[in-house]
Amino acid sequence: MIKENLCGLTPDEIYGLVQAEGYNYNQAVKVATSIYKKRIADVSQIGGVPKSLKVYLDDIAVTGFYGPATSEVSADKSIKYLFISPEGKKFESVWIPDVKRRTICISTQSGCRMGCPFCVTAKYGFHGNLSSGDIVNQVLSIPDAGNVTHVVFMGMGEPMDNLENVLKACKIMTSEWGMSFSPRNITVSSVGITPAIKEFLNRSECNLTISLYSPFEEERIRIVPAESSYPVHEIIRIMKDFTVKKKRRFSVAYVMINDINDTVRHLEGLRKILGGSGIRVNLMPYHPVNDDNNSSSSDDRMLFFKHELVISGISASIRRSRGTDISAACGLLASGLK
Ligand code: SF4
Repeated sequence: MIKENLCGLTPDEIYGLVQAEGYNYNQAVKVATSIYKKRIADVSQIGGVPKSLKVYLDDIAVTGFYGPATSEVSADKSIKYLFISPEGKKFESVWIPDVKRRTICISTQSGCRMGCPFCVTAKYGFHGNLSSGDIVNQVLSIPDAGNVTHVVFMGMGEPMDNLENVLKACKIMTSEWGMSFSPRNITVSSVGITPAIKEFLNRSECNLTISLYSPFEEERIRIVPAESSYPVHEIIRIMKDFTVKKKRRFSVAYVMINDINDTVRHLEGLRKILGGSGIRVNLMPYHPVNDDNNSSSSDDRMLFFKHELVISGISASIRRSRGTDISAACGLLASGLK
């Protein structure tokens, strides 16, 4: 008999497993709380429920936690982990500790099928969606699991291409019975798949970041093939029109590549599509991998973009890279392309 993984289930689903044996909904909530808040790895250690329930669960289920297979530590103390799921899917997470903000960057798929030409994960190909359990397990099973303050869905894969599992993982992370993160501390990053973005906006309260690369359709399409089916202008219009509640944050990530997307023309394009939208811009340096001849925009150029955007009324910040000495580009550990 294949045992059920409890990690990845909601209290409703756990109740569905135990209801016929006479256990109640509150007991299912206690099981969920033990799994997600206390990170109890052994079913027999689940607290606050009758011994008979633990014996029953031990028969039919496992917690489903699994730790990383390998890791690489950076000089700046960020740590990249390679996970291998029980089904053999490889994917990566990066632990990024800072003074007050301790972030884990997690994956939603093993590989990716979006085919962005600059991306190492794209070169690895697509090896399957991660389950909601695989997604939350990355937050629960790193050595620093108890210290995480922020979660970013910016690892391997396109979250909107695995929407139901991503929404369920967000629910587990933000629910009182789950991990109790504020939705303001969880950011999902996407290249933009319009129907899934609409669903995500309506069914989650977590933050959303869109990877932009260029404000011009004809350029963006060369870097983000999804642009041909899902133009980013339409996605930005949807984000502009969406009523944002309780400090939810919408942003675009703009990776700056020297002489490619850092000209005055690009700055004007950014002003044009983002002006008055309330959408924030995160300017990020570019990291070439392998035989790539492109390079990042200079610090001065990034500061110039930030200054010009801010004086135009567009919130902008520069995000410094972490873990560059451990090849933090997603996909390197899993693909072996390092
Ligand atoms: S950049 Fe993101 S969406 Fe594009 S191939 Fe890489 S992981 Fe997928």
